[in-house]
Formats: sequence, C-alpha cells, structure tokens
Amino acid sequence: MKFKTLKGVQDILPPDISIWQQIEAASRAIFKTYGYQEIRLPIIESTDIFIRSIGETTDIVEKEMYTFQDKGGRSVTLRPEGTASFVRAYVEYHLYNEPPPQKFYYMGPMFRYERPQAGRYRQFYQIGAEAMGVEDPKLDAEIIAMLSKILKSIGLAGLNFEVTSIGCKECRPDYREALKNFLHDKLSGFCNDCQRRFELNPLRILDCKVPDCINLRKGAPSVIAYLCADCKEHFEKLKHYLGMLKVPHTINPNLVRGLDYYTKTAFEVTSESLGAQKAVAAGGRYDGMVDDFGGPPTPGIGFAIGMERIIPLIRDSIGKPETPDLLICPLGQEASEKGLLFAEQLRTRGLWVEANYESTSLKSQMRKANRIGAKNIIVLGEDELKKGEVLVKDMISGTVTKTSLDTGELAKIIRGEK
Ligand code: ATP
Ligand code: MG
Repeated sequence: MKFKTLKGVQDILPPDISIWQQIEAASRAIFKTYGYQEIRLPIIESTDIFIRSIGETTDIVEKEMYTFQDKGGRSVTLRPEGTASFVRAYVEYHLYNEPPPQKFYYMGPMFRYERPQAGRYRQFYQIGAEAMGVEDPKLDAEIIAMLSKILKSIGLAGLNFEVTSIGCKECRPDYREALKNFLHDKLSGFCNDCQRRFELNPLRILDCKVPDCINLRKGAPSVIAYLCADCKEHFEKLKHYLGMLKVPHTINPNLVRGLDYYTKTAFEVTSESLGAQKAVAAGGRYDGMVDDFGGPPTPGIGFAIGMERIIPLIRDSIGKPETPDLLICPLGQEASEKGLLFAEQLRTRGLWVEANYESTSLKSQMRKANRIGAKNIIVLGEDELKKGEVLVKDMISGTVTKTSLDTGELAKIIRGEK
C-alpha cells in the first residue's frame, strides 16, 4: 500500500464513530447540568506555554512533545494536553473577570511522542473539564462527582477513583528535603534521568517508569505526611464531601502525576479491565498556574478522560449504531426516478432515507435492506405509481401498512404515529 497513517495515529471510522459520538453526547448532557460550557482551543501553541506549566523535567516536556520550528522560526508544539492551552486562553481573554466559578469543557486530540501500544497512542483524544476561581474543596468533590457521573453514564463499571493531595508550595520544600534524604544513599542505582532530576526536581523521580527506579523508591516518604495545615484541612474536607456525594474512592498516598503544575488535590481513575495502561481519566488542582501565566492569582481544577482507553471497555455494551428509517426499492427506471424525489421529500421531514439509484431485482434489494438494517421498506413498481398507493413494510415487526403515496402520510407511518 502506498500511503498509511503514521505510527501511533488512528483513523476513527464507522461503526466505531457512533461509540465516540455517544460518549461525547452523554458527556455534553452531564456538563450542561453542572454549568460547564464548551471551549475550542487551538491544537498548536507556542512551545514555552507547555514548558512553563507542565514542567521542564517532566517526561512530557523532555521526551514526548511534538515540537518544531515553523516557517517564521518560532518554536511551536502540538498540544500534549489541554490545561496549559486553556489557562493561556483564560488569561489572554481575561476570563477571570466573569463571576466564579467559571466552568469549561473541551474535546479534541492531543499529541505525545510515546511508544505506541494498546491504550497509548501518539495522537489521542481527551474530553476535559476545567473549573476556575474557587478554592473550596466542595468544587473538588463536585468535579470528581461529575467525572464519576460521566463515566457511569456511558456504562463504565468497576472503576477505582484514587485520590490524594500533593500539597502546595508551602509544604513542598519540607517534603522535597525528606524525599531527597530518603533517595540520597540509593541514588547510584537510579537511571540517568532520575539522577539528573535529583537536584532539579526530585519529585519527578516518583513518576519514573524504569523498573529499577520503581523498586528503589519503595518506602519513600509520602507527601501526605508533610501537608501544611491548609492543605491538610482541604484534603480532609474533600474526603468528607466525596463521602457525602457517594463517590466511592480510595486514598492513594503514592499517586504521582506526570505534570508539575498540580497542587493539593490530585486524582486518577483506573479500570481493572484494562492492562498496563489502566488510567482512564486523571486530574487535579492547579492553584498557581494562572498567576504563573501573568493573570491574577486564581485557583483552578480540572480533569481529562482518555477516549481510546474507554472505547474498548464499552464497545460491546453501548447501543448499536443507528440504521435507516426507510429504504425505497424501485422497480424500473421511472420508479427509480420517483424514488429519488420521494427520498428527498421524506428527508426534509427528518427521516433517514436510502434510495436505490439503480433498479435491480427485488431479491437483491431485499438483501440490501437486511444488510443496511433498514427499519422500513417500500417497493415502488409500475402498479404503485399508477394507483398512487404503496405498502410500507416494517422490517422489525413484519407489519404491512397500505397508504397513499403522500410523503406526510408515509412519514407518519414510519414514525409509528399511524
Ligand atoms: P499515563 O500514566 O497513562 O501515561 P498520563 O498521566 O500521562 O497517563 P494525563 O496527562 O493525566 O496522562 O492524561 C489524562 C488521560 O489521558 C490518561 O489518564 C489517559 O487515559 C489518557 N492518555 C494519556 N496519554 C495517552 C496516550 N499516549 N494515548 C492514549 N491515551 C492517553
Ligand atoms: Mg504519560
């Protein structure tokens, strides 16, 4: 074959697309009930936006970004995630001037140069939400409850909500020291990346995927033990509210996120039905990011759902794709032309109508009706045209209804209104 998709990049074709659309529709319906509005952000941004927010020593920035120079010599990057772009827009358009909370959601592709495998692609899609301007952990609980509702509404079961607090810039220096003390004597056994990160950003060592590093860091102190009074209170309240909202969750003090911007609440949703890539969604607070991007200090929290990870979990349970309301089966040239006209008129009434462009044998037209799953058929022959009457056959129940060749009447029968 001459041309193929790039490695780690996929086409989304029918019938799978209907699963995507159902997930998107279910998410939109739930976002609406919580007051989240859609935003569409560019796929390409200035590279420094991601370096600044995600962090220079993260895997994403160090290894995974699609970064290149455009023809004007600017360094640009295909977004590896949505939050940094969102905060850029939030500050650029002074969205903080609206009364808080300001709630937004987005859907779209992200790009990371990773090793492609099941559940890990180079172009992948996220549905994400961001809520701004509220420090209270009630918002944290609410957004986690909303995420839970979205995942449930699309039929996901057996999910585990792992929640933790990773502190703020007040508690982090103490924790950083404690972690460095723990790692210090073992450092020579860690990979080169970790050794480099030891001074630059030792917290990143907790996110390293190298098996030796995972082993060596066992027993490392957890940031939970080092939370300042404010973070501790925030975390306690969050747990209380999650209980109140009946979001089943577990506390995972070892949860680390791959991005530097998180503060306080961090969470990840995993599914036992998936293999190695079992995180279906993740998120957390980023109270310092707006400030960092030159806006007024504004707290924020968000999450992102990984579409490709949830599709295989619901492929079998989600509703079947829609099928045509009607197939018109013409017999003869004149009928075939009339069929074209009827189809056009019935479509303006909102029905999905398929017309056969060529008049083939009745048998082959019936085969087609079955193949495409037509809910109804009409056979349009010389007789029908002469009398101005047709039989509408309901292919599910087998019922046959006689009617005049009038699109209004036909539409009523097809809709089951007659
Ligand atoms: P992981 O640990 O699996 O690499 P991550 O921490 O890098 O995930 P986030 O940046 O938090 O992921 O993104 C949120 C969600 O997006 C993940 O939970 C996952 O479902 C999805 N996701 C992330 N990277 C990919 C990828 N390369 N391919 C498919 N989905 C992805
Ligand atoms: Mg990753």
